[in-house]
Amino acid sequence: MHKPAILLIYTGGTIGMVKDFETGALKAFNFNQLLERIPELQLLDCTIDTYSFEEPIDSSDMSPEHWVKMAEVIEKNYHLFDGFVVLHGSDTMSYTASALSFMLKNLSKPVILTGSQLPIGDLRTDAKENLITAIQIASLQENKQPVIKEVGLYFEYKLYRGNRTTKISAEHFNAFTSPNMPHLAESGVHLKVNHHLLSNFYTSNQLIIHKTLETNVFILKIFPGITQNVLNAILNIPNLKGLVLETFGSGNAPTEFWFINALQKAIQKGIKIVNVTQCWGGSVDMGKYETGTALKQIGVISGYDITTEAAITKLMFLLPQDLNPNEFANAFQTAICGELNLMN
Ligand code: ASP
Repeated sequence: MHKPAILLIYTGGTIGMVKDFETGALKAFNFNQLLERIPELQLLDCTIDTYSFEEPIDSSDMSPEHWVKMAEVIEKNYHLFDGFVVLHGSDTMSYTASALSFMLKNLSKPVILTGSQLPIGDLRTDAKENLITAIQIASLQENKQPVIKEVGLYFEYKLYRGNRTTKISAEHFNAFTSPNMPHLAESGVHLKVNHHLLSNFYTSNQLIIHKTLETNVFILKIFPGITQNVLNAILNIPNLKGLVLETFGSGNAPTEFWFINALQKAIQKGIKIVNVTQCWGGSVDMGKYETGTALKQIGVISGYDITTEAAITKLMFLLPQDLNPNEFANAFQTAICGELNLMN
């Protein structure tokens, strides 16, 4: 009988770290040791091959080059495997999950990111459950077809749509949430998949990877008291191409002339500005209050209920494409792979 074939891609993160005896700091260790530490992996009903970054990294060092490398590993092995599990530090896992979701066009197999809060060797580690269940999820098949056909993030008993997630705790095992989208599956005594939430985003299953990402982008979280100097300094960063503006509530910002005027000038210069709420959940609605209407009028693009992580990576992904301002706004305001919901 055909057992699903899974490729485990190790990029680094706490899951594979050990304590440096001299300094006490956590550092990455050899991936082969990771497999030695979980003999249970051999009991799974799938075959597992591994690929490790030559130099595993703490995910705070994650960069678009690493995303391209991951996408290339997946592309190269796409026809050989039924599913992919990416071991990744939790700190920037939501950014990577979002970026990969855009970069892997026509994805029709599972790519599941996971990691842990405690190293695999720690007595109370959360790594084993996360790793084993992530592999089980990547192996799920129905009629010889993968059940999950997208980039997911599995952590502490829940599988989320990757580009809907955000890290919420540096302390708890329950480190992630997906504020505007229910989880896709939950692991308890049984593995419960919410089939009605799964999507097939693409009509073709010919994987195409996008490798060009624009990094001249910025995230600006506004706050009461933000000064004209600060705003101008950001908007005049040489070669700035895109900005995620984290606004108040349902997409509101100061109505003062200098504020709106500076944004308008930046938009006229060709900088794409996307409005994302700094609230934990909910959506931008730029027609709801006067303080949001002004932004809409000058051409700020709505991010609706997108996360900041998905917004910045979607900017990186869309900016290199040759789109005129209208096409760009439309493309941003349309879901590519479930990253936003047009509620208004
Ligand atoms: N600093 C680590 C990282 O993101 C934390 C973790 O793995 O959870 O790589």
